[in-house]
This record gives sequence, C-alpha cells and structure tokens, in this order.
Amino acid sequence: KLHNTILELKGNIRVFCRVRPLLPDSDLSDTDREVVSYPTSIEYLGRGIDLTHNAQMYNFTFDKVFNHEASQEDVFVEISQLVQSALDGYKVCIFAYGQTGSGKTYTMMGDTGCAEQKGLIPRSLEQIFQTSQSLQCQGWKYKMQASMLEIYNETIRDLLSPGRPSTLDASGGLCKQYTIKHDSNGNTIISDLTIVDVCSIKEVSLLLQQAAQSRSVGRTQMNEQSSRSHFVFTLRIFGVNESTEQQVQGVLNLIDLAGSERLAKSGSTGDRLKETQAINKSLSALSDVIFAIGKKDEHVPFRNSKLTYLLQPCLGGDSKTLMFVNISPGASSVGESLCSLRFAARVN
Ligand code: ADP
Ligand code: MG
Repeated sequence: KLHNTILELKGNIRVFCRVRPLLPDSDLSDTDREVVSYPTSIEYLGRGIDLTHNAQMYNFTFDKVFNHEASQEDVFVEISQLVQSALDGYKVCIFAYGQTGSGKTYTMMGDTGCAEQKGLIPRSLEQIFQTSQSLQCQGWKYKMQASMLEIYNETIRDLLSPGRPSTLDASGGLCKQYTIKHDSNGNTIISDLTIVDVCSIKEVSLLLQQAAQSRSVGRTQMNEQSSRSHFVFTLRIFGVNESTEQQVQGVLNLIDLAGSERLAKSGSTGDRLKETQAINKSLSALSDVIFAIGKKDEHVPFRNSKLTYLLQPCLGGDSKTLMFVNISPGASSVGESLCSLRFAARVN
C-alpha cells in the first residue's frame, strides 16, 4: 500500500472523504444498490469519487478518498503527521462532517474496546503520549491539558464538570454561560470550563469515558440526541526543552460535528426545528469560515457561531485543518450524500 503519499497542501486546509461500508442492519433497503463508485485504476487511495443520482453522475475530487475497505489504521496513517505537528507547536483541527449514521463517530472515536476498531481520537492520543515520552531523552518536557465540551443549540456544555446536571434550571435551561474570549497569545479562554492536566493515555481515556457519560445523561434529561450536538475535544500541549530552552505550544482539536441532515428528513417541528436550524446555522458558519480562510479573505466571519468563535485561534494563521466528509453508501442516502460532497467541495 502507498502509505507515505505526501499530500499537496492547498493552504493548510485538507478534505478527506470516507465512505463507510453498507450495513446489513440499517441499510437493508439498500443492499441491492450502492451509489458511490471509485475509479478502479486508483482504488481507495485515489482522490476521486463518483456519485450517481437520477441517472446523473457527479464527480468530486478531494485530497484523499477512503472507501469501505479502509481500516481505522489506514485512515490514521494518513493523519499521523498532522497529529504530530501539534507536538511541534501547531494548532490543529480535525473535523468529521456528515449526516447522522455516516460514520463520523466511528471515524473519530471508533470502538474503543477493540484495538483494530479504535478511531482517530484514541490513536492520536496514544501517538502523542508515546512521542512526547520518546522526546524526553532530547530534553523535551511536555505538559498536557484536556477539555471536552458539547455545543447544543448554540449553547456550550462542559462534559467534564461533575456538577453539570445541577446547572440545569427547572425548565431544563442552562445557568452557566461559558463565555468565550481570546487572550493576547491567541488562546481561547472559556469561562467556567473544566481543564484537566493529563499525563497519560489512561487519564485521558477516563476523561473521554466521563464525557461520553455526561453526553448520554444530558441526552435523557433534555430529550436530545448526541447526534444533534457538536463534540469538541481539545488537548493543549506545552513543551519546553530543558537544554535549549526552546518552547512550543500546540493545540489539537478533534471535533465530531452534529449530523448535517436537512430538515425534511428529520421531520422537524418545535424543538427539533430549532435544533436543526441551530445545526444548519453553525455548519454553514463553519463552511463560510473555512471557505474565507482558503480564499485568504481579509474578513473571516468567525463570530457567526459558537463553534467557529471558540476555534478561531486554531483555524486561521499557520494552523492546520482537516475535514473528513463521511458518506453513507446506500441508495436512500444519496440526496444527503450529494449535499455532503458539495459542502466538502466548497471548503476544499
Ligand atoms: P455518525 O456518528 O455519523 O452518526 P456512526 O459513526 O455512529 O455515525 O456510524 C453509524 C454506524 O455505522 C455505526 O454502527 C458504526 O459502527 C458503523 N460504521 C461507520 N463507519 C464504519 C466503517 N468505516 N466500518 C464499519 N462500520 C462503520
Ligand atoms: Mg455520531
């Protein structure tokens, strides 16, 4: 396999497309027909993807396309350098975009109980802790801090705050405001947000479990699905070399975005409608920001959503961004898949 393909960087934004396999359970009506095809000459390490809809063929090209055969390891191999650059002092964002059920959470978290199925969050953390340890013999000492939050209906929720459920008021609203500020060093400061010093993969894994639990508690209390919120994992990395006195500060943001499906499919009324509008608004704000950065626009509309505002220092400048666009291969998803590919093509 061509694992060491070096990618041409278009600015610092890259888009990878990943198509999940057909699932016998949920894609039952699709088993007869897969709508996505690949130029067979390049296979899945190629960059093209064709999608056929109503007898029309649409072709898209991305920095990389992974088909249903790509393993978690195949995917990680292609991003490990990017993860590494957070240790070198870069600000890195990796997003997963796509409709609910397209494989965003599988790509980001995977099945943490099974080594082969682990997604890129656990793999990235393993790499970061391993590398930071091996750099000790060159005089490097690293300090890491983790935070995990969720943005639901443009409201931030701290997933590591043990008292979090009590911050809900009687009507299920939130009391804490978690205001976002940027300091003069280009760091995001979120008031009241829990930030935890972490020294090992074990410690972060426990925090990830805690965050997953907070998300599911919030889900039953507020009658919403985790697929309706953005999940943002942030690891801040502070490195100092004791012999050369060199210092680096990197940030790794790993973001599992809310499902991108449009209104009709989620049958929205009332709260659902509000949710969907908030998601659409923040996803288009993200697209606008990445598009403006890609075009090197002077004005980048970071303030149009909580997500883009809190990630502002990690999206512009010499930071590095990777967007996964996750696709369901089934015939019933073709409309949404086309929307996702168009979204991704715009930021690419
Ligand atoms: P999303 O987070 O976008 O809603 P999920 O990651 O939960 O979607 O994926 C939906 C289902 O598809 C899950 O059961 C997941 O395990 C499965 N799945 C997604 N991607 C893959 C893949 N590349 N290989 C095998 N199963 C996958
Ligand atoms: Mg998910």
